[in-house]
Amino acid sequence: MHRRQIMLLSALASGVSAVSPVWAQFNLGKALDAGKDLAKSQTLSDAELKSYFDQMAAESDKKNPVAGPSDPYGKRVAALSQKLQSYDGLNLDIKAYLVTDVNAFAMANGTIRIFAGLMDKFTDDEVRYVIGHEIGHVKAGHTKARIQTAMRTSALKNAAAATGGKASVLAESELGALFEQVIKAQHSQSNEREADDYAMKFMKANQYAPQACVTALEKLDAMSGGGGTAWLSTHPSPKERAGRMKQQVA
Ligand SMILES: [Zn+2]
Repeated sequence: MHRRQIMLLSALASGVSAVSPVWAQFNLGKALDAGKDLAKSQTLSDAELKSYFDQMAAESDKKNPVAGPSDPYGKRVAALSQKLQSYDGLNLDIKAYLVTDVNAFAMANGTIRIFAGLMDKFTDDEVRYVIGHEIGHVKAGHTKARIQTAMRTSALKNAAAATGGKASVLAESELGALFEQVIKAQHSQSNEREADDYAMKFMKANQYAPQACVTALEKLDAMSGGGGTAWLSTHPSPKERAGRMKQQVA
């Protein structure tokens, strides 16, 4: 079976994504007169931010195979995320992508995507750890902070110059560039610790095995020895994090 690749490069080694095919296609002509729009882009409202995340999520779902309700991965992720449509004051949309990468991501609008490649390697409780970790990123607003920066500092600032506080409809290439900067960039250590701490609380609060936080990170660390995983490009230092989680299990 031919599986479509996730639309983005999976070998991004650091948080810097200045050069990518998406950027190469980007119409830089727009950026030249964008300076005057800077002030406006610094005050993106929550509604505008949500619109940009909604557009990114829709584009990503268009480019990647989403597991449907009758697909085994779709069934499994639905079972594992039962009652999580609304959690901790957040509206969540948790689905699986039928891609081979071992990874997952979250957006500030509550979009969470778990990849089939990760689900193949992880037990149910380990997938729950990943879900909890991604909810942690949503709750802490990590990608929200990033999109503000992306809209301020990149050629995308022109796109953010919407009229009257109304969000622009972004072109496919602009959404691709945003995805690179906001979703594909590596999280900082402090972001990861925050998301891990949230995941541990999530496991305990829902009476799932907290030890799964440790074993999931140990698996990722073991995988990093050979071939590497996409997860490591966005979620650093599994070994150190496994140690932290171990201390919190008790
Ligand atoms: Zn993370």
